[in-house]
Amino acid sequence: MTCGGIVVNMTSLNKDGIGIRVYGNNSLGFYADVGGEQLWIDVLRATLERGLAPISWTDYLYLSVGGTLSNAGISGQTFSHGPQINNVIELDVITGKGEFMTCSRNRNPEVFFGVIGGLGQFGIITRARIVLEEAPTRVKWVRLLYSNFSIYSRDQEHLISSKAPNYVEGFLITNENTTNEWRSSFSSPSKQSDIVSLLKKQGIIYSIEVVKYYDNQTAGTIDQEFQKLLKELNFIPELIFSTDASLFDFLARVPILINDKGLESHPWLNLFIPKSRISDFNDGVLATMLPRLNETAGLYIFYPVNRNKWDDRMSAVIPDEDIFYGLGLLHTSRPDEYQIYDKFNNDILEFCEKAGIEVKQYLPHYTSKADWIKHYGSKWGIIQQRKAMFDPKKILSPGQRIFNSA
Ligand SMILES: Cc1cc2nc3c(=O)[nH]c(=O)nc-3n(C[C@H](O)[C@H](O)[C@H](O)COP(=O)(O)OP(=O)(O)OC[C@H]3O[C@@H](n4cnc5c(N)ncnc54)[C@H](O)[C@@H]3O)c2cc1C
Repeated sequence: MTCGGIVVNMTSLNKDGIGIRVYGNNSLGFYADVGGEQLWIDVLRATLERGLAPISWTDYLYLSVGGTLSNAGISGQTFSHGPQINNVIELDVITGKGEFMTCSRNRNPEVFFGVIGGLGQFGIITRARIVLEEAPTRVKWVRLLYSNFSIYSRDQEHLISSKAPNYVEGFLITNENTTNEWRSSFSSPSKQSDIVSLLKKQGIIYSIEVVKYYDNQTAGTIDQEFQKLLKELNFIPELIFSTDASLFDFLARVPILINDKGLESHPWLNLFIPKSRISDFNDGVLATMLPRLNETAGLYIFYPVNRNKWDDRMSAVIPDEDIFYGLGLLHTSRPDEYQIYDKFNNDILEFCEKAGIEVKQYLPHYTSKADWIKHYGSKWGIIQQRKAMFDPKKILSPGQRIFNSA
């Protein structure tokens, strides 16, 4: 990963133990100054102590602030607030030239827009100023199931066009394990046999997860508001699962993952798919290839977001359509079986290539420079300029092979 480059022990930046500071007031707004090495779970804990919280998240919080801002940082809040990179006001960066720069949309913007979504290519983020808002205390959380893809995607797009929900995601279910795992948080044992028979019939079931935040002041009306929202949707009426949780338990819903024995491989594929081709993608991949994979431990995430919440000046790359879907195929394999999933992922990319579906990889992985040039498309020129300006010796993250050929 770092052949000819450097490895930085980011946690050593937190020697004084005060890597998260919360500022602001009601008239100017609130924000947190956070070390790039800090984990989002710690940002959540520290800000909640002041009754505040960031507004855009990832599903998993044991990730560093610098690491997610180097990609995008997406989850069910992205449709309304944009990715995490859209909710950062200012950064401190050490460029590949060793220059220390404070940057924002107006100050040194070329560094700012370069490093956010910049895959660690232009500088090391040592501090980020993150937008905060008053935190709600609780959430209403439902899972809805669908057997028909076009009704499913229509409902997902309806939800992200509305201001009513605070979080919208989706899951693809191809085996019972997924819903078995739901049992602990969303008790559904009586419906399990219905789900299993639907799965046997169809091979895949589609699910939407919707959340609405509330607090003491809105506790009296939240159920009514949620019912109004659900009335606009066309899920299978018997298959709705609801729960209620604290904001912390909801945001920190994915427990820390530890794989210290090397017993698992995670050959993931994350894609952004333009809305105009989503039905072709379902026919060719989701409804056919995915059930045939017969994977028992994978998690498949699938939901639309709005392009207008992304700033085109950022280094992050997305499809050129107003709405696009994020797909996360989070495979878990035994270390000696990862090739099955690598091949499966490649087959999907090949299918898209042949069908002319212009997907973009999120958390991209390519082995040739030509593929990177294609990935960046019209942004390739500016990406090259940024590299020449901020890391001319190409010492930052060479293992991605964007500029350092194999
Ligand atoms: C279990 C799991 C769940 C995830 N869930 C989501 C999700 O819901 N949404 C989402 O958007 N992403 C998700 N991701 C992907 C995640 O955003 C990236 O893997 C990100 O790089 C993680 O940050 P990290 O702290 O682990 O980075 P590391 O693995 O430590 O770093 C990865 C690379 O990022 C760059 N980098 C890291 N820190 C900095 C810095 N301070 N300055 C500049 N460059 C830096 C470097 O190039 C580095 O090589 C998930 C990843 C995992 C492992």
